[in-house]
Amino acid sequence: MSFEKPRGAVEEKEKPKEKFSSIERVLGSKGQDISKEEREEVFRATEEIFKNQKKYKEELIKEYESIENIPEVLRVIFFEREKKDEEVYLINHANRLTNQLRNNFNKPDLNIPADNIHIIPSDVNWPKELGDNTESYYISLGQLIVLREPEIKQLKNSKTIFLKNLIHEMIHFKSYGSIKRLENSSEYNVYRSGLKSFKRENEFIGHFGILDEGVVEELTIKAIEDSKDLPLIKNEFEQTKRYKKVLEAEKTEDGQELINGDELFINFDQDEESLQIVCNGKVRERKILNQLIEKIYEKNQSQYKNKNEIFEVFVTAEMTGKIIKLGRLLDKSFGKKTFRKIADIGEDIDELESFINKLK
Ligand SMILES: [Zn+2]
Repeated sequence: MSFEKPRGAVEEKEKPKEKFSSIERVLGSKGQDISKEEREEVFRATEEIFKNQKKYKEELIKEYESIENIPEVLRVIFFEREKKDEEVYLINHANRLTNQLRNNFNKPDLNIPADNIHIIPSDVNWPKELGDNTESYYISLGQLIVLREPEIKQLKNSKTIFLKNLIHEMIHFKSYGSIKRLENSSEYNVYRSGLKSFKRENEFIGHFGILDEGVVEELTIKAIEDSKDLPLIKNEFEQTKRYKKVLEAEKTEDGQELINGDELFINFDQDEESLQIVCNGKVRERKILNQLIEKIYEKNQSQYKNKNEIFEVFVTAEMTGKIIKLGRLLDKSFGKKTFRKIADIGEDIDELESFINKLK
């Protein structure tokens, strides 16, 4: 006999209602709390931006008076191209996968409309502040994702690369998110996005920004792995696997192995006899995160069955915003204020790497 409730109807009923914005909390600034009415108004405004990107674009033009005056990271969305049917299909797929991740933490579905994903052709000027290595980003206050088309023509049509960048940004979008009113101002800015939080007022340098990227990219790699049977992806996935085998014994000019197992997409252009290898992103961030997980595991083997259980502690903090358990685990493993020290290092990747290297 089992006391388990039958699956289905009951679970369906308990599932929380769908959400229409990534913002879960709206905070006042230090010593200046906000009224219930203002908070509700801010929630309503973000939902409006989420649901109606066309109107949001119109309002941006009104606010800045012309497209030229709009900050570059937002201006690019005015140069987006139309989405292909297969891209809309992949957006739906990515929404489903990332909703499952939310549901695991009892968070409601958040279906990001295709309108909120802006695809920018490679010949459009890319925001200078982001540099050439950034291919995509998420803007919490605009409730939007920007994806840049690859510049190299052999990569332009890769659906694996498109899906990888899309899922990465969707996980940022669907992680814990809060905004905070700036001191002595009616303006709001991002306060938390996943593990990342403001270091100082009015400055977007994040505590835990590096670990946040590591967690998001590791989750993305798992999601891509779960997508390999998708009809649109399958051929590319198998092609990459074939090339991995063929190239296994090859070395690069400086004597390194050509294939390291981290490849996302491989292509060989017969006409030009050129090889394109694209790997998963955030290599250093993931290395630092995994090194930290390894060190935590060494100290807590009696409590955790495997390293994945430690990774889950990071994912829980990322998705729910509750960082106390992670903080306690770090302090218990390496001494008081370890968590605080990692926060203070912020986004200085060299410093964080050497700090974690030295942890005992
Ligand atoms: Zn990211």
